[in-house]
Amino acid sequence: MMVDEPPASARFVVIGGGVHGLSAAWHLAKELTASGENPNVIVLEKSQIGAGASGISGGIVRNFYRSEAMTEVIAESVAIFEDDREGFGFHQVGYLAVVPEVQREDLEAIAEHQCEVGYESELASGDSNCREYLEWLWPDVNSEGVQAVLHEKRSGWADAIGTIRNLARHAREAGVRIFEGVEVIGLGYSGAEVSEVITSGGAIGCEAVIAAPGLWAPAWWQMQGLDPLVTIGEGDSAEQRPLTEYWLAREGDYLLPGVGLAGNAGRAAPVVHFDHTAPLYSDRDGELITDQPWGIYFRMGMTGGSVVGGGLPLEMGPDFELDPYGPENPKQLAGDDLSEFFTSGLAFALKRFRGASDLWDSNPNGGVLALTPDRYPVADWTAPNVYSILDAGHGFKMLAVGREAAREILGSAKSSLLAPFRLSRFGSGATHVVSKSPYPWT
Ligand SMILES: Cc1cc2nc3c(=O)[nH]c(=O)nc-3n(C[C@H](O)[C@H](O)[C@H](O)COP(=O)(O)OP(=O)(O)OC[C@H]3O[C@@H](n4cnc5c(N)ncnc54)[C@H](O)[C@@H]3O)c2cc1C
Repeated sequence: MMVDEPPASARFVVIGGGVHGLSAAWHLAKELTASGENPNVIVLEKSQIGAGASGISGGIVRNFYRSEAMTEVIAESVAIFEDDREGFGFHQVGYLAVVPEVQREDLEAIAEHQCEVGYESELASGDSNCREYLEWLWPDVNSEGVQAVLHEKRSGWADAIGTIRNLARHAREAGVRIFEGVEVIGLGYSGAEVSEVITSGGAIGCEAVIAAPGLWAPAWWQMQGLDPLVTIGEGDSAEQRPLTEYWLAREGDYLLPGVGLAGNAGRAAPVVHFDHTAPLYSDRDGELITDQPWGIYFRMGMTGGSVVGGGLPLEMGPDFELDPYGPENPKQLAGDDLSEFFTSGLAFALKRFRGASDLWDSNPNGGVLALTPDRYPVADWTAPNVYSILDAGHGFKMLAVGREAAREILGSAKSSLLAPFRLSRFGSGATHVVSKSPYPWT
């Protein structure tokens, strides 16, 4: 079989075949075609498209973020999923954030901002309202200690690999050429501008680059000669932090035969984030699992009755060895303690799951993700003709980032949506608001 070789030059080179790179390439080509120009865009992917975090993502599409800038980008991103629900395998079943008192104010603020940007949601606040709201969906729910429930109507989940394939299909149809197995290993400069990318297969001349290297951001930073430490804040309180720190997102596929998440009268269950401050005890032996705030998230799986979800993220530090990336690397797997935590959390939340710990078919998996210092993505110029998109562990749903980056690089306008995601926010202290959730990525 003849494998296509990358060309000697392309007007736009996109590095990385994850959601951000593919979305950027698709939208670049689409905008170029719309303005009557040749969509001369290539994507270089060192492995296969979807080989990074995008391909193993849980696929949750939600807008439960304390940062107002996120609410806006995600509202735009969800509109892209809505434009092609079938192609993305987008199950728009809604999303419920179920939280204790300590997070009530966060939820109220999020609901208010969602209303301002037209992202349809409902908020229940206070124990009796929450009980009524939740019991309408699940009569066997444990609503004790729940003080706020946010129901996002437009959220849900999408098939991760299906989304990657669909982005690639849209990109190719718009004229993008995608080259897999081609690694970018260096850059050639003409003055301050990048004039060529050096790949494992040779040099490719270019006019501009969009890089979305995902977890491999530190290597990309190094290639550009940039400092891998960022300064947070100014003056005496300034501190230096690594640009990227790694976390293990511990997730799994779980099946309790004959028992699923379906709601009252067979209603499809929304995606759920269930956070709590009550002690969590093992459903297997009643031993205390944690007396600290905890949380699980879950959704219906692809196959009848299965539950996909996770909890207990683990900090891996800034120097984690990424390759080989994915589930075949045992260092990147969730581990069995997730199963006890997760199924006990489910049993706490829904009575139907109680006393069945021996009957679960458990398949813990998960994977490593990258976070920036304030745990939100970066979208910014890193050279006059180089645009970098850095992931922050919740980018699967953020399809609009690539679109906005494409528009910026084509010079049509500065994106007001991306303005809060510049690198300069770290130095100026304009970092994003962080919620009180037990999760590092909300
Ligand atoms: C287990 C898990 C569950 C998650 N669940 C969710 C979720 O439910 N919802 C959500 O919104 N987000 C979720 N995320 C986060 C989400 O998957 C990521 O934020 C998102 O996929 C990042 O996309 P990306 O395009 O930046 O990076 P990636 O998908 O990692 O893509 C980067 C690509 O660049 C390639 N690359 C890197 N360097 C080079 C180079 N030098 N040359 C050529 N190619 C290169 C890599 O091979 C890779 O394919 C999850 C992540 C994990 C790990």
